[in-house]
Amino acid sequence: MRPLEDRIAKQIDSIPRSGIRDFFELVQGRDDVISLGVGEPDFSAPWHIREAAIISLEKGLTSYTSNLGLPSLREHIADYVEDKFSVRYEAGSEVLVTVGVSEALDIACRALLDPGDEVIYHEPCYVSYSPSIVMAYGKAVPIQTRLEDKFALMAADVEAAITDKTKLLLLNFPTNPTGGVEPREELEKIAKLAIEHDLIVISDEIYSELIYDGHDGFEVPEHTSIASLPGMKERTILLHGFSKAFAMTGFRLGYSCAPVVLTEAMMKIHQYSMLCAPILSQMAAIEALKNGAPEVEKMRRSYAERRNLLLRRFEAMGVPCFTPGGAFYAFPDISQFGISSKDFAFRLLEEENVAVVPGDAFGEAGQGCVRCCYATSFQELEVALDRIAAFVDRLRAAG
Ligand code: PLP
Repeated sequence: MRPLEDRIAKQIDSIPRSGIRDFFELVQGRDDVISLGVGEPDFSAPWHIREAAIISLEKGLTSYTSNLGLPSLREHIADYVEDKFSVRYEAGSEVLVTVGVSEALDIACRALLDPGDEVIYHEPCYVSYSPSIVMAYGKAVPIQTRLEDKFALMAADVEAAITDKTKLLLLNFPTNPTGGVEPREELEKIAKLAIEHDLIVISDEIYSELIYDGHDGFEVPEHTSIASLPGMKERTILLHGFSKAFAMTGFRLGYSCAPVVLTEAMMKIHQYSMLCAPILSQMAAIEALKNGAPEVEKMRRSYAERRNLLLRRFEAMGVPCFTPGGAFYAFPDISQFGISSKDFAFRLLEEENVAVVPGDAFGEAGQGCVRCCYATSFQELEVALDRIAAFVDRLRAAG
């Protein structure tokens, strides 16, 4: 028999395992580790949302739903998106409920890409982007964002990367792992490029509720969705979900909003691979959209306080960290210590029992930085920061 390793599809064989997962296998089974690693709220989903799922189960709602998702959920999504993003989608035909943004991203790539089509996206970025493109037989074309631009995406860099094979532009603001947000003027320039070059845009806005001002983080700055800019709704697939702002990661629920033709194509894949998203999660999501806003705001303010703590402490340590405008990640620059991001993260784990993610797990552009997720309790964060300070002192003393 030929070795099983030889039977794996080339496309899948070519994809590396997630750098985050590899790292977290090391964390498993160690005592006293404080993890600033996994990008997940430390809150449970608010009680009224959990209760909606329980009541649905008690009522015996255990069936499939329409492939697109429950009509009432799609209505609520269309209203929510109009309210938040100032763009109106037709609930009956332009909204597709998916198993997380993860599925929405996968089926958007599969619905649109032919072999060799190029997808431009910005790095450092969420670990799934390149694999999702490659699994759909597309060519991943990363462009780097930089600390000196506060990890915003520069339209000039997008323009330089466009070729006659470019089909898609994949954006994520606020950005995982940097916390970068995109200034509206730059987004307008990028929209203009998309129109000029006839590109389709996938815009992953999963962190769009979690935005902070530069001062104390409490004001809610304006988030602009590229879908709301003139001429963009007709060429944008807006992805959003419940995992982050509503602390509902385990419910596995997301959605896409896109023109009918694109929604139909994505729906075909969804209907044959997933059939539909779980009904209990959909019922919980209706409750989240109806009554979840105050809890989201409470969590956002709590993240803002934690972000500020982190920034104060990194400043005191002499570790440069730009002020993230969104999500719940800080991306401090550790290049002064002359070791790689991986070495920094491994040694911090070994010596101080604190887990952070090496920046290059999010693409080469992340080398020299580490990702710290601050969706961790205030008390744990304080202890973790004491330990990081001790570690950094030792690195400096060792010269
Ligand atoms: N998009 C980004 C930018 C993320 O950071 C994540 C999760 O970390 C996802 C999508 C996946 O979200 P979901 O839980 O909805 O699949």
